[in-house]
Amino acid sequence: MNFKVPRGTQDILPSETWKWQQVEKIIDTACDVFRYKEIRTPIFEQTDLFQRLVGDTTDIVQKEMYTFTDKGDRSLTLRPEGTASVVRSFVENKMFGYADQPVKLYYTGPMFRYERQQAGRYRQFVQFGAEAIGSADPAIDAELITLAMDVYKRTGLKQLKLVINSLGDTECRSAHKEALVNHFTPHIAEFCSDCQSRLEKNPLRILDCKVDYENPLIASAPSLANYLNEESANYFSEVKKYLTEANIPFEVDPTLVRGLDYYNHTAFEIMSTSEGFGAITTLCGGGRYNGLAEEIGGPSAPGIGFAMSIERLLLALDAEGIALVNESELDVYIVTLGESARQPAFSILRRLRNENIRSDMDYMDRKMKAQMKSADRLQAKFVIIIGEDEVAEDVVQLKTLSNGEQEKIAMTDLLQLLKNNLA
Ligand code: ATP
Ligand code: MG
Repeated sequence: MNFKVPRGTQDILPSETWKWQQVEKIIDTACDVFRYKEIRTPIFEQTDLFQRLVGDTTDIVQKEMYTFTDKGDRSLTLRPEGTASVVRSFVENKMFGYADQPVKLYYTGPMFRYERQQAGRYRQFVQFGAEAIGSADPAIDAELITLAMDVYKRTGLKQLKLVINSLGDTECRSAHKEALVNHFTPHIAEFCSDCQSRLEKNPLRILDCKVDYENPLIASAPSLANYLNEESANYFSEVKKYLTEANIPFEVDPTLVRGLDYYNHTAFEIMSTSEGFGAITTLCGGGRYNGLAEEIGGPSAPGIGFAMSIERLLLALDAEGIALVNESELDVYIVTLGESARQPAFSILRRLRNENIRSDMDYMDRKMKAQMKSADRLQAKFVIIIGEDEVAEDVVQLKTLSNGEQEKIAMTDLLQLLKNNLA
């Protein structure tokens, strides 16, 4: 047999899954504290949804989607990102009618993009994202950014940089767009074919091109910052004030434009500044998307969201040399001597597990020495040793692996003693 995982995907093995679970726990706790509730949407959606909401001129829609036709002749797409589905669900389930606004949601799950595989870039990857829909208060922008920063901080990451920008509203965007078209049109032949088609549809995306980023015309392009109208400028300055209030350091980068078509006002990215990190340093991206719900027939519902992949978060931890704490270590390993101890051992195991004590025993009929080695390898906190004599006396030998001490414990005292020591 010669089967392998599809290119760009990976098996996450037990030696790694605990880290994922640990990160997911941190995410769930942070979201709980910030009062964001989990939403679970389907892994695939109608293809039109992404074309509409992510935008026809984006790399995602143009090059990266896994699109297929099902047996009912419908065009479906494996979700490349989470916001479109969340906004779809917000409109479809009339969440705009909920008494408490904004509606604050989060998700964690696999996304699919047909991309060239490299470190930190996979074809199936897991994103954690959060969305706050229904409010255009700059404080909610700051709250959401704080949530993203908090999740990283709770994992132990320190070398982070938050970069923010304002993309303005429709009015400033169209004035800026005109200036960009004038700037690039005389030289557009120097640019890649994608940029040539972006010129008419969405010239802002030229600034984000991964092919032409070194062309000096990109650095000299008219800056959006100079086109912000008063309302947009005020909004941006409020967001900055709230971030300062929350003690979140940031840098303003007027060239930051996000890859998705739907952003306006606040856009932000969080990068790792760790030296050990490879070429791709962006850990998280997000922004405001007023008007997105209307785009699919919903009411006006201003929103803001971000997404980060767990893969890049774990890479950043590695780069900083930070180890997550495994909270799921073995409490007790039971070593048996001789056939007559097996059933009593099995019954102790049952009682330990009823008390939520993480415990295990040998199922390979091995000698005592081999069982002790297992207990060591599995880093059990305690080892219970039970043989014929112990069974007869109704006791066990309890060994504490950290100091090697061993004592005889009456069966009736065992459970309480372990519970006290493990608490
Ligand atoms: P990039 O510029 O790296 O392609 P992007 O703008 O396409 O990123 P977003 O769509 O904003 O990324 O997704 C948000 C986050 O999801 C990224 O900051 C990154 O952490 C993660 N991400 C995006 N694509 C991948 C991928 N192929 N593999 C792993 N993580 C990814
Ligand atoms: Mg991308």
